[in-house]
Amino acid sequence: MNVNVLKIAALAGDGIGPEVMREAIQVLRVVEKKFNLNLQITEAPVGWAGLDAAGEALPKATLALCKASDAILFGSVGLPDRDPTVPKEKRPERAALLRLRKEFNLYANLRPVKLPAALAHVCPLRPERQGKGIDILVVRELTAGLYFGKPKKTEEVIEAQAGPHQPRRFHRAVDTMVTTTPEIERIAHVAFRAAQTRRHKVTSIDKANVLENGVLWRDVVTQVGKKYPEIALQHMFVDNGAMQLLLRPDQFDVLLCENTFGDILSDEAAALAGSLGMLPSASLGEAQGMKTFGLFEPAGGTAPDIAGKNLANPIAQILSAALMLHYSFGLDDAANAIHQAVAKVIDAGYRTGDIYTAAEPKARKVSTTEMGAAIAAAL
Ligand code: NAD
Repeated sequence: MNVNVLKIAALAGDGIGPEVMREAIQVLRVVEKKFNLNLQITEAPVGWAGLDAAGEALPKATLALCKASDAILFGSVGLPDRDPTVPKEKRPERAALLRLRKEFNLYANLRPVKLPAALAHVCPLRPERQGKGIDILVVRELTAGLYFGKPKKTEEVIEAQAGPHQPRRFHRAVDTMVTTTPEIERIAHVAFRAAQTRRHKVTSIDKANVLENGVLWRDVVTQVGKKYPEIALQHMFVDNGAMQLLLRPDQFDVLLCENTFGDILSDEAAALAGSLGMLPSASLGEAQGMKTFGLFEPAGGTAPDIAGKNLANPIAQILSAALMLHYSFGLDDAANAIHQAVAKVIDAGYRTGDIYTAAEPKARKVSTTEMGAAIAAAL
């Protein structure tokens, strides 16, 4: 047995979280045996489950567990219809997820969007628009830009009017976009390093024709790009990027984006894969030698419409576990084995409801647990 204990905090959260987490842990246990690993997986409540258990969306014990772990495997949090008297700042989306991102300085969000050939029918684009296939890695800056810049406020304005007229009163909302050179440099390095292991292309998204932030972004990304001469760097304005994703998605390999643009384009790219239930994500902090602390979670949320019914697609959570093995532990063989097992099961026709269509002759509609068991068996 490998003596190196890998400590994983498993925070399933709400809605479909516990259902899909169960399947991911089952798959991790198979990987552990197959690759002779020593995984210490500890489960803890978060989200409404945390509020119910300990009165906080991120209970102190859960945060302490995360701090003592090498990686966080996260489900999803938030149930929009639960207790409206709980204020925004105590609700799970802010008090748990944003808090964890801040606590661990998780500045790089990576979302691989891949449409397996067998699932071409779930893509909203016509087959001829899908080109050679969709395989994009969105790299989004997660801690700077428009969402965090100060000042951020809504204020009342009282404007004096000429003559005898009453002053005019109205409100003004202010958000501030701030990005610094070091913030751009570190996320650019993440994108270029990722491209080295893929198809060697980075498309950097900005709005350099209008925004000062865009000008700096373009300059710094260009400078960082010089350190990676084997990677082709292309710059694209965000409005064109949004259009190109729909017109010719196969031109993209790594898509490098500032926070707000990345938020929007990563959801647009996700739609190309047909279902949120297929898409994992990684939020990474600074690398510590060969290891990078990260939080790994499905791109989707708690899916209250299907929660508790054994209908959710567990693949996003299972592939999130694969991203964890790759990024936090450098266990690429184990991560690839999970990818191959998922591909095998998809090729064999296993479909949860979100990716099922009766028009597909070999499709077999399965539950969450059946999909998880099939992937574990394929491993
Ligand atoms: P959602 O992603 O939960 O659901 C959107 C649609 O996608 C639903 O029809 C749902 O059934 C489907 N879907 C999502 N994951 C699926 C899966 N694994 N298998 C099959 N279908 C799946 O988004 P929403 O309904 O806007 O949000 C619900 C709650 O989740 C909200 O409280 C929101 O704040 C929260 N949320 C949390 C996270 C997170 O924890 N990171 C992310 C997004 C949304």
